[in-house]
Amino acid sequence: MPAVLSPEVLAKYEPVIGLEVHVQLLTETKAFCGCANHFGSDPNTNICPVCLGLPGALPVLNAKAVEFATLASLAINCQVRERSIFARKNYFYPDLPKGYQISQFDKPIAEHGYIDVPTSDGTMKRIGITRLHMEEDAGKSLHEGFTDSNSRAYLDLNRCGTPLVEIVSEPDIRTPDEAWEYLTRLKEILLYTGVSDCNMEEGSLRCDANVSVRLKGAERFGTKAEVKNVNSFRFVRAALEYEIERQIEVIESGGRVLQESRTWNAAEGRTYSMRSKEQAHDYRYFPEPDLPPLIVTPEFLAAAKAKLPELPEARRARMIAEYDLNPKDAATLTADQAFADRFEAAAKTARNPRRVANVLLSEVGGRLKALGLDQEQSPVSMAGIVLAADLLDEDKISSKQLKQLFDICFEAKEDFPAVYEREKPEQITDSSALEALIDEVIAANPKQLEQYRGGKKTVAGFFVGQVMRASKGQANPALLNELVVKKLDA
Ligand SMILES: [Zn+2]
Repeated sequence: MPAVLSPEVLAKYEPVIGLEVHVQLLTETKAFCGCANHFGSDPNTNICPVCLGLPGALPVLNAKAVEFATLASLAINCQVRERSIFARKNYFYPDLPKGYQISQFDKPIAEHGYIDVPTSDGTMKRIGITRLHMEEDAGKSLHEGFTDSNSRAYLDLNRCGTPLVEIVSEPDIRTPDEAWEYLTRLKEILLYTGVSDCNMEEGSLRCDANVSVRLKGAERFGTKAEVKNVNSFRFVRAALEYEIERQIEVIESGGRVLQESRTWNAAEGRTYSMRSKEQAHDYRYFPEPDLPPLIVTPEFLAAAKAKLPELPEARRARMIAEYDLNPKDAATLTADQAFADRFEAAAKTARNPRRVANVLLSEVGGRLKALGLDQEQSPVSMAGIVLAADLLDEDKISSKQLKQLFDICFEAKEDFPAVYEREKPEQITDSSALEALIDEVIAANPKQLEQYRGGKKTVAGFFVGQVMRASKGQANPALLNELVVKKLDA
């Protein structure tokens, strides 16, 4: 680990971060051939002369990959280029039998986009996106799992030719937290468009981070290091935190930060140098002679625009307005598109959508979280949540009774309507019974009564709470409120 730097030293510097994200597209077939694009097949079963780069084999571009790349570009506010060019990126690696990757270089399919991310002070910050380009994935070298793995490496070429988009941000990110937010928002947007499953464990979404530091106020960027292939957003944040301190320490001790690629070791919580700039590849890009320029016609672009779903940020804004939600609840409800769909379908049938959100997030969500369960494993259905919210809204049950009923649902793994039918909690709606309880509570709390009569009207809530407790949660809340105020004012 770097030596612990004082906050004063750290505060002198400003980190500059840019992110490169590779996203596998969820097409049926690969980018340039008809092989299945499928994770988890037996090794070397989804291959053909094209994706193996055998002599004479010719690539044919997958139209679905272009559609998905276009959708992703529009979703991150990029301008889609009418004419883009595929290029060969030349390098040799055992899992790249062609000796080059088909990519895009100076004329990518899309440029000049942005996404907005929330910052620690509650405002939004715009992070620029330099470009989105299309390319193909390489295969995989397997260094573990065989009896002779200590002396041999094995190759699985199924991944060769899998369609990718690479999304490159501007160096607009200033903290590891912002990087985490950017990645979280980007993944959310891509999931909404349906172009990728963004499964980081299976490598459908991979991230490289460029990071440098400079003295605050300096014009020029410092020398950057690139941290390669970090496989979770949490690790990206940790790797950036480490790298920022390491670079500041190098500079503070009179050294020079080297331009290099580094790898993150999660077990040790530090980065290691992989290769310096002197060893860096010269990819000798040139236009791919086997593919014509890619033309995205205005009609194709219009068709893609028509397919673009309502994106998370817009959906949150609409749901806040339509259902009177607070921003935090709206964010939770829209983090997963299917979950948001189910909430909206349920909310439309309820008396009060905000109450549905409250019951769903605090009562059901809180219990699921405590038990470590997913939403799909909840014993309470959306219909059950709507019924509970309606009963609350009509004052047919108190919130205390609702909690008790949900406790039973989760213990017995039963849905709310069945539990409610069986348990049907009693409600005290008899005014004289409630008045008797209120008189007792008022007599027992002369000090609070004095405060109330002295003008502190909020003390009424104290009396309501005490009477509700005395009634074991069975007092009808609306009637109780009305009677308490009447008695106090008497
Ligand atoms: Zn193939």
